[in-house]
Amino acid sequence: MTSTEGSDCLFCKIVAGEVPADIVGESPSAIAFRDIAPKAPVHVLVVPREHHGDVSALAASAPNLLADLVEMADEVATDLSDGQYRMIFNVGPKAGQTVFHVHAHVLSGTQLGGF
Ligand code: 5GP
Ligand code: ZN
Repeated sequence: MTSTEGSDCLFCKIVAGEVPADIVGESPSAIAFRDIAPKAPVHVLVVPREHHGDVSALAASAPNLLADLVEMADEVATDLSDGQYRMIFNVGPKAGQTVFHVHAHVLSGTQLGGF
């Protein structure tokens, strides 16, 4: 958890429908929506409805939700592409995390470069 939980958290607001998003998947525990600045033909963010600050906190307190994110990533990549995808979790500012509500980046729809 971080201090951005709830009314101050952008992704909590998207989950609550208070900020619009292009939603491409929904389940009782998670939603998926297109990234506003896509880095691949398919670039979707998959987030739990519950607020957790990063994937480390999520794995520690609700590992079932982490499995739900992977399941939804699979569904979205199958629906929008060919089922092959890269999943990235940034943890901490040095890794590039800017929104402190855990989210999986799901990149698909092209041959992705090595890194
Ligand atoms: P991070 O850098 O925290 O791993 O990823 C945050 C992602 O959220 C970025 O890829 C950024 O483009 C995306 N993002 C930031 N603000 C919004 C927004 O208002 N709507 C959507 N759909 N994506 C956003
Ligand atoms: Zn949140």
